[in-house]
Amino acid sequence: MKRPNFDLNIEVRENEILSKHSTFRIGGAATFAVFPKDKAELTSAITSIKESGMKYKVIGHGSNVLFDDKGYEGAIIFTKYMNNVEYVHRADETLIRVECGRNLTELAGDVGKKHSLTGLEFAYGIPGSVGGAIYMNAGAYGGEMSDIVIESEYYDTLNNSFVTLDAASHDFSYRHSIFHDHPEHIVISTLLKLKRGDAEEIFNLMNKNMSSRREKQPLEYPNAGSTFKRPAGHFAGKLIEDAELKGYTVGGAQVSEKHAGFLINRGGATSRDVLELIEHIQNIVKEKYGVDLESEIIYIPY
Ligand SMILES: Cc1cc2nc3c(=O)[nH]c(=O)nc-3n(C[C@H](O)[C@H](O)[C@H](O)COP(=O)(O)OP(=O)(O)OC[C@H]3O[C@@H](n4cnc5c(N)ncnc54)[C@H](O)[C@@H]3O)c2cc1C
Repeated sequence: MKRPNFDLNIEVRENEILSKHSTFRIGGAATFAVFPKDKAELTSAITSIKESGMKYKVIGHGSNVLFDDKGYEGAIIFTKYMNNVEYVHRADETLIRVECGRNLTELAGDVGKKHSLTGLEFAYGIPGSVGGAIYMNAGAYGGEMSDIVIESEYYDTLNNSFVTLDAASHDFSYRHSIFHDHPEHIVISTLLKLKRGDAEEIFNLMNKNMSSRREKQPLEYPNAGSTFKRPAGHFAGKLIEDAELKGYTVGGAQVSEKHAGFLINRGGATSRDVLELIEHIQNIVKEKYGVDLESEIIYIPY
C-alpha cells in the first residue's frame, strides 16, 4: 500500500492514538488521522486515500464508537474542524445550516441561549457531532434530529459528487438514517428548522435535561452512551438490571452501577473487554427474557 499523497494544507497525523478521540478512551493507533477544515479538504483527502488503496472511515466526535485495541490500518478522517454555522432568520422561524463537525451540545446551547430558538433543547448534553447525529438520528427527552431536519448535503464518494437530500429521503427511524445503508455517503452539512421561543423556558428545559443526565448517567467514567438500542416493548437498562448484571465486569469494562444501560471504562478497558461484556449481556438477556439486544455502539475493527 502506498502512502496517500495528502494536500500539504490538510492536517494529517501519523500513528495517532485513537483512544484520545473516543469518549470510551479505548483504541490503538491509526496509520493516519486526518483533520479537514472544510469540504474541499475533506474531498481532497478522500481522493488521495482512495488513490493509495488505503481504507478510511469518517468519524465525528467518537462518542458512539469503539475503536479496536490494535487501532486502525488506514485513515480515520475526523470532521471536528468542519464546524461552520449560518443563520437565516425568517418571520417566525430560523433556518440553520450547520457543518457536520459542529458539536451538538454547543450548537444547542448557542441557538437556545444566544438566539432564543426552540427545537434543539433535547440535544443539549449529547456529546457528538452534527454529522454523527444525522447518521444516528440522535435523540433524547422526546426529541430527535428527524424532527428538525429540512435537508442535508452529502458527499458521494463513489461518484465524487455533492447531493442534497430532502428530509423524507433520510429514511429516519429510531437511531437509524439512510447513511447506515450507504457508508460511501458522507454528511457534509445539514439544514435545521427552529422556531423563535422564550429564552428563559429554553434555558430552563436545557438545564433540566442536563441535570437529569448528570444525575442518572455515569458521566464520571469514560463511556459511549447507551450500549444497546431500545428493544420493542422494553428498556435495555431495565432488562440488564433485572438480569442482575449491574456491576458485572470484564477486565476494565463494567456495567455501570449507576445506569445499567451504560458500559463504563473503569480504567484500562480494552476493546476486547467491551466486546466480551456486550456479548455476555446479550446472551444472559436472551436466555432470561428472550429479548435480542442490538448494540448501539459501533465497533470499528482494525
Ligand atoms: C455520555 C453520552 C451520552 C449520550 N447520550 C445520547 C443521547 O441522549 N441520545 C443519543 O442519540 N445518543 C447519545 N449518545 C451517543 C452519541 O453521542 C450520539 O450517537 C452522537 O450522535 C454520535 O455522534 P459522533 O459525532 O460522536 O459520532 P461518531 O461516534 O464519531 O460516529 C458514529 C457513526 O456516525 C458516522 N458518522 C459520523 N460523522 C459522519 C458524517 N459526517 N457522515 C457520515 N457518517 C458519519 C461514523 O462513521 C460512525 O459510524 C451519548 C454518548 C455519550 C458518550
